[in-house]
Amino acid sequence: MRKVTIALAGNPNSGKSSIFNHLTGARQHVGNYPGVTVEKKEGRCNHGEVEIQVVDLPGTYSLTAYSIDEIVARNYLLEEKPDVVVNIADASNLERNLYLTTQLRELGVPMVLALNMSDVTRARGIEIDCEILSRALGVPVVSTIGHKGQGIGELLDTAVSLASNGHHPAPLKVEYGRDLEPELASIQQVVEQQENPLTGKYAPRWLAVKLLEKDADIRRQSVSPVVSAALGQSAKKLAERSGSSPEIMIAEARYGFIAGICQEAVRSSVEVRQQLSDRVDAVVLNRGLGLPVFLGLMYLVFHLTFTLGEPPMGWIESAFQWASTTLSGWWPRGSESVLKSLLVDGIIGGVGAVVVFLPNILLLFLAIAILEDSGYMARAAFLMDRLMHKIGLHGKSFIPMLLGFGCSVPAIMATRTLENRADRLTTIMVTPLMSCGARLPIYALIIPVFFPVGLQGWMLWIIYLIGIALAIGAARVLRSTLFRGATVPFVMELPPYHLPTLKGVLIHMWERGSLYLKKAGTIILALSVLLWALTSYPKKEHYDQDYQAMTGQARKDFLAKVKDLNPDLGLPGDSVVLAQAVQAELALAAEQEHYYEHEIGYAQAQEKYNDHLEKLKGGKHGAALAIFMEIREMVTRAHQEFDQAVEKAGPEKGSPADAALEKSRDARLAEAEKLNPKVYGAVVKFRQDLETPYTEQMTRIKRAQEAEDLSYSLAGRIGHAMEPLIKPLGFDWKIGTALLGAFAAKEVFVAQLGIVYSVGKADEGSEALRDQLKYHYTPLQAFGIMLFCLISAPCIATIAVTRRETGSTGWALFQLGSLTLLAYLVTLMVYQVGRLAGIGGA
Ligand code: GDP
Ligand code: MG
Repeated sequence: MRKVTIALAGNPNSGKSSIFNHLTGARQHVGNYPGVTVEKKEGRCNHGEVEIQVVDLPGTYSLTAYSIDEIVARNYLLEEKPDVVVNIADASNLERNLYLTTQLRELGVPMVLALNMSDVTRARGIEIDCEILSRALGVPVVSTIGHKGQGIGELLDTAVSLASNGHHPAPLKVEYGRDLEPELASIQQVVEQQENPLTGKYAPRWLAVKLLEKDADIRRQSVSPVVSAALGQSAKKLAERSGSSPEIMIAEARYGFIAGICQEAVRSSVEVRQQLSDRVDAVVLNRGLGLPVFLGLMYLVFHLTFTLGEPPMGWIESAFQWASTTLSGWWPRGSESVLKSLLVDGIIGGVGAVVVFLPNILLLFLAIAILEDSGYMARAAFLMDRLMHKIGLHGKSFIPMLLGFGCSVPAIMATRTLENRADRLTTIMVTPLMSCGARLPIYALIIPVFFPVGLQGWMLWIIYLIGIALAIGAARVLRSTLFRGATVPFVMELPPYHLPTLKGVLIHMWERGSLYLKKAGTIILALSVLLWALTSYPKKEHYDQDYQAMTGQARKDFLAKVKDLNPDLGLPGDSVVLAQAVQAELALAAEQEHYYEHEIGYAQAQEKYNDHLEKLKGGKHGAALAIFMEIREMVTRAHQEFDQAVEKAGPEKGSPADAALEKSRDARLAEAEKLNPKVYGAVVKFRQDLETPYTEQMTRIKRAQEAEDLSYSLAGRIGHAMEPLIKPLGFDWKIGTALLGAFAAKEVFVAQLGIVYSVGKADEGSEALRDQLKYHYTPLQAFGIMLFCLISAPCIATIAVTRRETGSTGWALFQLGSLTLLAYLVTLMVYQVGRLAGIGGA
């Protein structure tokens, strides 16, 4: 006859003795456990061909060695290794009873869960889904009524079959959260390196949990000075982060795990919940209310992130501007120094473009840290779990994806909470589709150019939504192809609500935010230099067009036209006095180009000009010139002051404030006109018909030259080489060159486009760049650019972190390749279909 040992474990008063009596009848033996005066009840029964020995363990709430009963129960389980443990739980008090169950599962002993007192739960209108419970815990579950012997037969059947098939489920891994897990890992490492009698016997993770939990028994047996030091350090770190001790955090994590299970498996037809946390959950996890509450909170988070982030963004921008001007001042103005260009355009420009988003990202992470530390985020993930499951993902994938709206790098690191590798890889692959903060300037540049004011907000939403929809689609596809496999039984932890501590929240925010800064300091720094070099070299020696001759000609034409004004000023047609004055002015501007205002040369040039002008005014026809200059000065001032006032007060066009400013300007112009209407007319003509077209032409020539430079540079050549490939997407070589920059970091795209279009330093507010875009592209092409930037290859930092987190270069390359391909296909489809349908001005 085969022998099987069954141990009954459970909380006091869960009905262990009642079940024990039913199993064993009269055949009982009462003694003491060796060495201690704790009662040991043993009995026997037969089940078919099997002889069963039943041991009733002391009733305990936990397996941590706080009391002698707990030590006895645990040691029996660990030393005697019964074939099956029957865990008897009072189902009418499920959450508290599952605490022991969870610990038994963490220990990994083969077990059956008996939901005793099932008559009481039924009477109270509580319904427990044994199926879900069994799946979540990974063990069979049987309902019993102990004192009446109901369900005992089934319980025995299940226990015996479990004992005979020898199937041991893997120990349950409770997720202890992002603060505890790293400490557990480091203690586990220290323990594994130490020689001690326990390491061979127990799983290292279990030992680490017990040690952090301050389990007296385990500590006594295995603590060495090294382990003590590690434990002390961990406790200190944890106290700093959460203001709590490890044993409390561990207990809370277990209760969170249990709360998650109960939320899934327990339905109550009558309201039995009383605790505040339960009342909050009743709203937050409510099927109808939960989602609106969640969406409202998310709206608040994003709204605050962007409004509160604006002022500090301005400060950072000014700081970088200051740095770049100060640094430029070390060289003479207009200097062609390579070092200056590298420092100012390459490094400060590139890194500044990234650091500017730090406030946004920190604020987003701050808000998420508050929501996480308070316990809400776990509810949000729980809420999303059902939805996430539809796309083949785990509810826990939700937080990384949310973080992805800030920056993909910390988001991918946050996937560490996902135990299932298929879930984790899928989440890592699709997270970059959540449009990160760095992509925002691209949209901010493009949307206002091509879409009417009423549509602009919607366009932004559409872009974000496309990203989310693609992430969902891609996740489904990945989950059913490359990362196939059943979703393992999952439990969403529902930790108790907490008031977050300031320190803890700040630490958590900084942990993620600093990753973003690190990206700016390392990868982006290096790439800024590389991109700068790519766009600056090789230098063109001989231009296709003679720009110098072109500027000379433009100048000559301008001066010739100045003579046409002579009749208006009452001068003879061949008088050169006005032309000479204008020429002197141009010479002044050209000379001052080489100096900063505080430099001597700058003042000297001004002096020289003043002398020259005075001489002209004192010479032949000098009086006419003087009045022309005076009226011109008045007109220029009136316009200048109007522009400054508008910029400062920023009144809406057509508003009363705007009208008042215009009125005062016009009054001043009228005054100038009164002085001499004819000369005034000449001044207006000079400003409008001569001066403005001349400056515009000079800018055009300069831009053409810069564009030729860029086209000749390596970046331009790569862009050109790419052109046949990206032409079907509606992109030209200029977009190609800018996309090259976007691969380094999305935020570089805008700056790069600015260089391509030779509009000097560009940011998303740059009007000059906007004009260029409007001139060169259609709304359909613009939409394609945004789509491509949204979907395509994530930045280098993301690829690097994917490689580290997956431990595989292959997966990193797969992410790079597949997202780029997806971007290509989607943009191609949108552009070609849009073109055929004639949408968006194509
Ligand atoms: P132990 O402390 O775990 O050994 O629990 P006991 O077996 O002594 O049971 C405690 C009390 O619960 C006793 O009065 C039992 O009669 C009662 N009891 C045990 N099982 C059930 C059950 O399934 N339903 C109900 N209503 N009472 C039960
Ligand atoms: Mg008892």
